[in-house]
Amino acid sequence: MSILNADLHCHSTVSDGTLTPEALATRAHANGVELWALTDHDEVGGQHRARAAAQALGLRYLTGVEVSVTFASVTVHIVGLGFDPDHPALLQGLAATRGGRGERAQEMSEQLAKAGIPGAYEGALKYVGNPELISRTHFARFLVESGVCRETNEVFRKYLTEGKPGFVPHRWARLGDAVRWIREAGGVAVIAHPARYSHSATQEYALFSEFKEHGGQGVEVVTGSHAPSEYGKYADLALEFGLAASRGSDFHSPDESHTDLGALPYLEGRLTPVWELIADRVQ
Ligand code: AMP
Ligand code: MN
Ligand code: MN
Ligand code: MN
Repeated sequence: MSILNADLHCHSTVSDGTLTPEALATRAHANGVELWALTDHDEVGGQHRARAAAQALGLRYLTGVEVSVTFASVTVHIVGLGFDPDHPALLQGLAATRGGRGERAQEMSEQLAKAGIPGAYEGALKYVGNPELISRTHFARFLVESGVCRETNEVFRKYLTEGKPGFVPHRWARLGDAVRWIREAGGVAVIAHPARYSHSATQEYALFSEFKEHGGQGVEVVTGSHAPSEYGKYADLALEFGLAASRGSDFHSPDESHTDLGALPYLEGRLTPVWELIADRVQ
């Protein structure tokens, strides 16, 4: 079961990806993905489309979402898999999580204007597929288009991360709430790309402990958001905390993402694949 080309993390135009759910399904299938989940940020509006497109291709599908959470003052992402995409508590929680994005984007734009970059809100909006889901990625695309930076990575480094002119601190969902919404909707919660967070070792340990106490069951080990040298550490932590392991490219765009759908090493055989926990929810 660990030798399976599962890709359980990617983004469509419903959040900050550039491909539609249908185009992602086609690309995943063409790349040899055997089990797929679309995991848009804070939004399940693409789930029915993704599932229908996957089923038309004979590609096995799990529902997915990536919830923004604030833990120890740092933004953490929790992936949910195999849930009911119409569950009221989940829909309500996600709507509340999306709620502050518009105002945050206006503030980001004001700060960027003060730093000499006018019109960023309107500019970012041109890239937004879902008006409730304006994200830093859309600002990054505008700043690249307008020639301020060469690529999105550079925009984040210079403008959109903590301490930089366009960064606006934001309070997202609470860890326990995000895990609860996913579980109440019948899914499993997974810590996304743990190596990406700026927590201290103590805070990272607390994240894993509290996640587990809230009923979290998985952690991403093999992800396009980790360097291969980071896989081993999180494989060890998965075993230490009794968490299943997940695998996903975190693909956003053919032009921006360095890891394509399905283009990842397999999970190590010593790990329990997260899809084993939700085999009955594969559609
Ligand atoms: P937001 O939810 O608006 O804070 O935006 C977060 C998104 O920004 C992430 O999901 C990534 O897609 C993107 N992102 C964050 N950091 C970087 C980076 N260093 N380079 C490129 N994209 C990034
Ligand atoms: Mn993203
Ligand atoms: Mn993420
Ligand atoms: Mn992601």
